[in-house]
Amino acid sequence: MSLLPKLVGEQKALLLLSSIVDSSDDAIISKDLDGTITSWNKSAERLFGYTEAEAVGRPITMLIPEDRLQEEPQIISRLVKGERVDHFETVRRRKDGTLIQISLTISPVHDDEGNVIGASKIARDTTMVKRGERANRLLSAIVDSSDDAIISKSLDGIITSWNKSAERLFGYTEAEAIGKSITMLIPEDRLDEEPEIIRRLRRGERVDHFETIRKKKDGSLLDISLTISPVKDANGTVIGASKIARDITERKKTDAEIRRINRDLEQFAFSASHDLQEPLRNVKIYSELLTRRYQHKLDGEALEYLGYLQTGASRMQNLVRDLLAYTRVTTVPQSMEKVDANEVLSAALDGLASLIAETGAEVTSENLPAVPMFDAHLQQLFQNLIGNALKYRRKGVVPTVHIACSRQHNCCEFSVRDNGIGIRSKYREAIFEIFKRLHNDDEYSGTGIGLAICQRIVEQYGGRIWVESELGRGSTFRFTIRC
Ligand code: ADP
Repeated sequence: MSLLPKLVGEQKALLLLSSIVDSSDDAIISKDLDGTITSWNKSAERLFGYTEAEAVGRPITMLIPEDRLQEEPQIISRLVKGERVDHFETVRRRKDGTLIQISLTISPVHDDEGNVIGASKIARDTTMVKRGERANRLLSAIVDSSDDAIISKSLDGIITSWNKSAERLFGYTEAEAIGKSITMLIPEDRLDEEPEIIRRLRRGERVDHFETIRKKKDGSLLDISLTISPVKDANGTVIGASKIARDITERKKTDAEIRRINRDLEQFAFSASHDLQEPLRNVKIYSELLTRRYQHKLDGEALEYLGYLQTGASRMQNLVRDLLAYTRVTTVPQSMEKVDANEVLSAALDGLASLIAETGAEVTSENLPAVPMFDAHLQQLFQNLIGNALKYRRKGVVPTVHIACSRQHNCCEFSVRDNGIGIRSKYREAIFEIFKRLHNDDEYSGTGIGLAICQRIVEQYGGRIWVESELGRGSTFRFTIRC
């Protein structure tokens, strides 16, 4: 009577054990000392592709690739000595012939007398782990060979990783940086940036191309551009941040230098053209006086030379006037009052009245919007574009000019359309360059500055200007202004 409950208890325990073995994620196999498989669980089936019926009774060597067959006797010899083989990383072959990387733990199985009669094997597929490790190694090689400093930190600002470029850029070694607060890189007057960055990261936002100043180990300051992204755990919770820091000291220096050179050049162009006005006026006035007063005393040749002098002086005056206009287009404020483009257009047309009358042109326009611009700038745009439309007219054709404007999503696109000579497509960009002309002065007079002025104005307002044209049919100049 007393034996029965014990047996039932042992059976239960065995059942429990076998269900544990079957539900394990690891392949659990046993074999005898000849290497014949004696048991095979569900995960072994999944891992190697053989069913229990196909595997039990067969030699374990069916799982071993040929070049690894020598592993088996070595394992058996350790098992016979009662030793366990722990986390043995190797390769095995599946039923379909594919190779998998596995980690084996093999323990001897003893009989009641303590003799080793076989072995139990736990095999775990490490293919993905290996792949992951390889990907990690690759990633860390990429991170280390990057020219940018790549740093990660926890949300309380403690540095958790530091690549080679971070070492080069900031002067701290990996050992010196990891575990320290990121604030060691931040100059005192910029410490308030960090809490704001952390706030944005916590919201899951990325901070892009944030230009700031950071401090090196030797105390010197660096201009850098930071891109900081939140790092999330598997549940999507922000647990830290990765930072990419790029040294922009050189770029900042170059930018400042370019700005300085530009300012100097503009100043030079302004003073030169301004100061040239006075002597030029004298050349013009006195050559005119000479012609008027001494006409009867001068021979034909002298008069011809005087004529050249006057035309030259007039052309130079135009050049100086246009250059001055070009240098006067300087930065405009961010926010501006709006001007009614219809009123500005009619002022521009007043300025062109004699040319319009002289050419018999038909100028039409649609209702135009109000735009945030200085009226002098918009007027100059209209004057240059309509002036050109009239100047580059076709012989024998009544010039027509049409001015319109269409609203795009955040800007107004103006157009000035003519029926003039048109522009070859290869010149459609070059004509906006300063001094670029497609004709000589005998054909059409000009300085080659008008369109450069237009472009400079439009760009000051964050817009762009371009032309669409058909040679011999006409051109449409378009420009956009944010409105
Ligand atoms: P300019 O008229 O003083 O030569 P611009 O800068 O105003 O200088 O124009 C540059 C060149 O672009 C002109 O020389 C001309 O060849 C061409 N161009 C400008 N507007 C037109 C137009 N409406 N039709 C045909 N060609 C044009």
